[in-house]
Amino acid sequence: MITEQQSRIYLSPPHLGEKELEFVREAFNTNWIAPLGPNVEGFEKDIVSYTGCNGALALSSGTSAIHLALRLAGVGSGDLVFVSSLTFVASVNPVLYLGAEPVLIDSDEETWNMSSQALERAFTSAARRGKFPKALIVVNLYGQSADMDPIMELCNRYGVPVIEDAAESLGATYKGRASGTIGQYGIYSFNGNKIITTSGGGMLISQDEVALDRARHWATQARDPASHYEHTQLGYNYRLSNVLAGVGRGQLEVLNERVEARRAVYKRYEDAFSKIKGFKLMPEAAYGQSTRWLTALTINPEAAGVTADELIEALAAENIEARPVWKPMHRQPLLQGCAYYPHSENESVSDRLFEQGICLPSGSSLTIRDQDRVIACIEERIRGWRFRHESA
Ligand SMILES: *Cc1c(COP(=O)(O)O)cnc(C)c1O
Repeated sequence: MITEQQSRIYLSPPHLGEKELEFVREAFNTNWIAPLGPNVEGFEKDIVSYTGCNGALALSSGTSAIHLALRLAGVGSGDLVFVSSLTFVASVNPVLYLGAEPVLIDSDEETWNMSSQALERAFTSAARRGKFPKALIVVNLYGQSADMDPIMELCNRYGVPVIEDAAESLGATYKGRASGTIGQYGIYSFNGNKIITTSGGGMLISQDEVALDRARHWATQARDPASHYEHTQLGYNYRLSNVLAGVGRGQLEVLNERVEARRAVYKRYEDAFSKIKGFKLMPEAAYGQSTRWLTALTINPEAAGVTADELIEALAAENIEARPVWKPMHRQPLLQGCAYYPHSENESVSDRLFEQGICLPSGSSLTIRDQDRVIACIEERIRGWRFRHESA
C-alpha cells in the first residue's frame, strides 16, 4: 500500500490556476473548438504585452516554433546552424528537419549557457573555411538567460540571425528585458513540464511582424488566399488550438507567481545544500533573473562521497523523481560527426556538468513538506557516507 509519505514527487508537474477553465468554457460555449479563434488571438496579445515584443504566433509546440524560425532565417539543406550543445534535443531536431548541419557550442562555468569564448572560436574557424552559419540557436538553460550581449555582438558582426530558445526561461529577464526578446526570434514552450503549460504548445515571437506573417502562413498549410485550395509554398499544420490557448491565457495570469514559487524552491535547496562539501548549485548571473525552472546542481563525488547518479537512485527509491543534467548534444549518437567547440581547447564544461549534474524536483506546487522529504533523503545519503568514511 502506498502511504501518503511515499506519494510520488515529480520533477516539474503542471500547476493550474483558477482562470484556465473559464477560458476553456468560453471556447466550448461559443463553439470555437478549432485551431484559431479568440483565445489564440488573446493568448498572442497577452504574450506580446508580457514580453514587450512586437508580435507573437501561437503554435502547437516549441519545436515547431524553432522550425519556423529557422526557415525565416533562410536555413536550408547543407547550411550550418550554430546551437548550444547543453540542451534538450528539441533545440537541434528542427535543424535536421531542414537538412542543415548543427555545429555544437559548449557552455561556460558562470552561466551554464553558451560560452562566447567557444562561439568566437567557432566563428574564427568558419571564417577560415569561408562557410558561415545561416543562424544561431542559443538556449536559455533551466530558466536562465544566456549572456546575450557578447553573443549578439559576435552574430551581428557576421550578420547571423539569432534564435533564442527560451522554452525554459519564459518569465526570466536579461538586463531588464524579457528573456526571449533579445535575438531576432524567440521561442517559448508550453509543454506539460514547463513553467506554464497548455499541455502542449509553443510560441514564436519577434520584433519583425512581416516575418511572423510569413511564418503564420506556413503554419496553416501555406494556403494562398483563394476559395479553392491553392498552394505555392510548403506548409505545416502547426497552429495551437483555441481550446489549449484558453489554458495558456489562464496560465499566463499566474506566471509571475509561478516564477516566485520556483525561486523559493531553489532558495530552500540552497539553504540546505550550500554548506555540503562538493555540492555546487547552478549560479545565477548578475545580469538578470532566472525563473529557476529546475534547481540544478553539480556534485563532486570526491568531496561529497556520492555521485549524482547514486543520489538519483536514492531519491528514486523514495519515489522522488530527479534527473541528470541534459546529456550534451555532441555526445548524442544522433549527432555523431557534428563539429563541437568546447569552452577551451582542453576543457569541455558541458561534459562535466552532465557527468556531475542533477536536477531536483522544482515544481511551483511542491509543498515544503515534500521538499523536506527530498532534502532529508539527500542529507541521509551524505551522512551515511561520512559515517562510514570517518569510522573507517
Ligand atoms: C521543452 C523544450 C523545447 C521543446 O518544446 P516543445 O514544446 O516540447 O516542443 C525546446 N527547447 C528546450 C530547451 C526545451 O526545454
